Amino acid sequence: MLYEINEKAIKLENEGKKIIKLNIGDPDLETPPEIVEAAYEAMKKGKTKYASAYGEKKLREKLAAMHGVSADNVVVTPGSKWGVFATMFLLLRGGGNVVTPTPYWTAYELTAKTLGAETRLLKTELDDKWRIDLEAFERLIDGNTRMIILNNPNNPTSNVIDPKVLDGVVQIANAKKIPILSDEVYGTISFVKTKSILEYSGNHVMITGFSKMFTMTGWRIGYVVASKELIDKIAKLNQITITNVPVFIQDAALTALGMHEQLTKGIKMEYQERANMACKILAKAGLEFTAPDAPFYVFPRRRGLDSERFALDLLDKGVAVAPGTSFGDYREHFRISLTAPRSDIETALNRICEAVR
Ligand code: PMP
Repeated sequence: MLYEINEKAIKLENEGKKIIKLNIGDPDLETPPEIVEAAYEAMKKGKTKYASAYGEKKLREKLAAMHGVSADNVVVTPGSKWGVFATMFLLLRGGGNVVTPTPYWTAYELTAKTLGAETRLLKTELDDKWRIDLEAFERLIDGNTRMIILNNPNNPTSNVIDPKVLDGVVQIANAKKIPILSDEVYGTISFVKTKSILEYSGNHVMITGFSKMFTMTGWRIGYVVASKELIDKIAKLNQITITNVPVFIQDAALTALGMHEQLTKGIKMEYQERANMACKILAKAGLEFTAPDAPFYVFPRRRGLDSERFALDLLDKGVAVAPGTSFGDYREHFRISLTAPRSDIETALNRICEAVR
């Protein structure tokens, strides 16, 4: 359905119509120029060759220091998406099942399917503030469960898992010796403190990247923090597939980390203001949602809404959103990405509110 909406949006644009695209999580903000310069400087210095499949030593060391681990526990990947795929490939190849709460980023299930594994979904609800029911969660786990996936903060709700609930999930996983893949790609720019899986003991895997934190979606750089054993396996997979993330991109990422505070403060503030504006407008129209704990997404509900029909009709009003069915069994919800200039978001939100009246 996401594909259908994108195709219709492109068709309408080709006919000369302006479409405000709030259907995908690709920010309108530019990569900070300091990062672009760093990549260019590295290229001029000849950092354009094949390199280590683990990633550059300096970058791994910096990331390791940030997360309080050893550089042996870090591998650089082309986006966090590859980190997710590689980890799932290594843990699920040939079967078993993976347990994950919904709403969810559908790549998890599509990847599991590709690997011949089953996905077991635990539905969470807006009315429970997206809380994971620990007993129901535990019931989904059986002898064939090879991993648990958490996305914290979550796409599409922008909800951060309550630390006590997270404690409970980790306790269950540790008791059953099941690794958790924690996708924390929105964690570094979260509006509220987000407990990382790395704060717990256990054989868990943390995945994140530079896309959201530094507006570097197209650069394709992320990383995995895990046991040395898994890191070595991912590096081997890198060797036979992507070889390495380009060194000039890793150099730019290292520069970005060095200027972290300065570069992300403005980005975070802009998203917070967008989120505040969205909450105000959507609440006025009587839509139900949880206020985002992190940038990018709001996932409102209107009782009785068929979000697929709604998303298609809304395109004729010049706005693209993602139907809730793209994230699990959420027909009455739709996802709005706050990844356009503020004035466009305001126009789009007003059209959305008119359309749901
Ligand atoms: N995880 C989640 C939950 C995402 O929403 C996305 C991007 N939409 C990714 C991972 C992939 O991000 P990256 O650009 O780092 O590959």
